[in-house]
Amino acid sequence: MLQNNTTKHHGMRRNLVTELKNKGITDTLVLEAIGKIPRHLFLDSSFESHAYQNKAFPIGADQTISHPYTVAFQSSLLQVKPGDKVLEIGTGSGYQTAVLCELKALVFSIERQNELFKATKKLLPKLNYYPKELIFGDGYKGLLSKAPFDSIVVTAGAPFVPKDLLAQLKIGGRLVIPVGKDPQIMHLYVRTNSKKFSKQEFGEFRFVPLLEDKN
Ligand code: SAH
Repeated sequence: MLQNNTTKHHGMRRNLVTELKNKGITDTLVLEAIGKIPRHLFLDSSFESHAYQNKAFPIGADQTISHPYTVAFQSSLLQVKPGDKVLEIGTGSGYQTAVLCELKALVFSIERQNELFKATKKLLPKLNYYPKELIFGDGYKGLLSKAPFDSIVVTAGAPFVPKDLLAQLKIGGRLVIPVGKDPQIMHLYVRTNSKKFSKQEFGEFRFVPLLEDKN
């Protein structure tokens, strides 16, 4: 599959990185990661010519891959260091998962749509991305068995901040979560001690909703 990652795609990625810089993304490690990842291989081939535009696209099961700007913005807020244990809620296409792998995080990612879960579990190793664990389940609960995390990123719009996610952060750990209906406001929570969290808000974004478990 990697043979379908040509110099043409490389050039398109360079332009995307320039666009993200122009839009205010400054985190060089995140920009480098986006410059490396073959985003077109995370999408249906019919979208290939648009894969490096700053757009969201359908990925099946009524879900979308997030805009590159959104992925870059959330990834920057996480401030991932190599070896960090990071939990992602909403694996979807696996593109954000790949960014976290490029940042050398130990990635755990939860997806509630079985169709997407299965497809992405197959795709990532083909592209040489090896998250620690992909989990089919409900992200509202986090992943208690692997907690605490250095950071948690929610890639769907949450109607409220799930308590379990805050509880599963290390002291100093960061939760990046879009909160609200449409649009959502990007929130960053940092755990300052066992009981306290600081909160910052970062403007409007649009995500598909974080859904309650069907079961
Ligand atoms: N990170 C993804 C974004 C996909 S869109 C990407 O880069 O492609 C958000 C994803 O969150 C969808 O795949 C959706 O099925 C999933 N999702 C929604 N509610 C969820 C929940 N409660 N638990 C886990 N995943 C959920």
